[in-house]
Amino acid sequence: MPTKWEKEAKDILKQPAPSSPPKLTSRRIGIHTSTAGGPETAAERAYRLGCNTFQMFSSSPRMWKPYQLSEIQCAEMKRLKETYGISPLVIHTSYLVNVASSTTEFLHKSIAAFRAEVERALALGAQYLVLHAGSYRGLSRQEGLERAAHAIAEATDRLDLAACGFKVLIENAAGAEYSLGSSFEQVAELVERLRSVLPVAACIDTCHTHVAGYDIVSPEGYEHTMKYLENTIGLKNIPIWHCNDAKAARASKLDRHQHIGEGTIGLEPFRRLLNDIRTSHAAFIAETPIDEPGDDQKNVNALKALVAP
Ligand SMILES: [Zn+2]
Ligand SMILES: [Zn+2]
Repeated sequence: MPTKWEKEAKDILKQPAPSSPPKLTSRRIGIHTSTAGGPETAAERAYRLGCNTFQMFSSSPRMWKPYQLSEIQCAEMKRLKETYGISPLVIHTSYLVNVASSTTEFLHKSIAAFRAEVERALALGAQYLVLHAGSYRGLSRQEGLERAAHAIAEATDRLDLAACGFKVLIENAAGAEYSLGSSFEQVAELVERLRSVLPVAACIDTCHTHVAGYDIVSPEGYEHTMKYLENTIGLKNIPIWHCNDAKAARASKLDRHQHIGEGTIGLEPFRRLLNDIRTSHAAFIAETPIDEPGDDQKNVNALKALVAP
């Protein structure tokens, strides 16, 4: 994946800058963007794709050794965000971090890495840091939840997070065995426990929701699932939606993202979500695959086209 990704990302920046600002919709729509060439280049890519929000990694998602961010890079990110009216900036935590780990060594590594994630997010002026609640293999689910809550508290101890409205967002999981956060109740419980420790809310991924077994596809199912979300996490506590179609069937627990409108979810549920008055405060970010050059543009355009004028 990285090869095509990097190529696509470099190709976008090789093109001449657009002469007029890209057309936007009434909703904030963006995509997970490559940081090839430096994290600050992600803002330029997002703008050229016609986004007014985006997500990125602030370090390699599969390596413990963190990127060293310079002050110049952080200042450039803030300048581009301002110039292009990009908000919110969302950072996705590295996949290696597991704050519910049953292994002491892994848990300590995860706590240190998560603290560095928070520090980089603040340095870049990000508003949200998305975190997978982790895997509790070797523990009971309850022990896993408690461990995750303690680890997040320890990782953010003595950091000033209240400034600039920064929040950690717990993302719902696809339902793989031992993963925390596969149900809305689990996400809600973690958010509730952490509330006294740090500013926290949730990120809901449409693919994870669908493969975890919730119905967002039929109109009645969508209504039911939204009410369920309201009664557990609370829709106002969901500032970010990850908009991904799914390759696998509902309730399959298989986390395979698909292009918008080309998977087992289809276009209509995204149209409902993007025009739902109850999500008007939220931003929508695709984490769709790149199979062909231009796929990022195609998926951003697909989401934007669904927003009623
Ligand atoms: Zn995620
Ligand atoms: Zn996601």
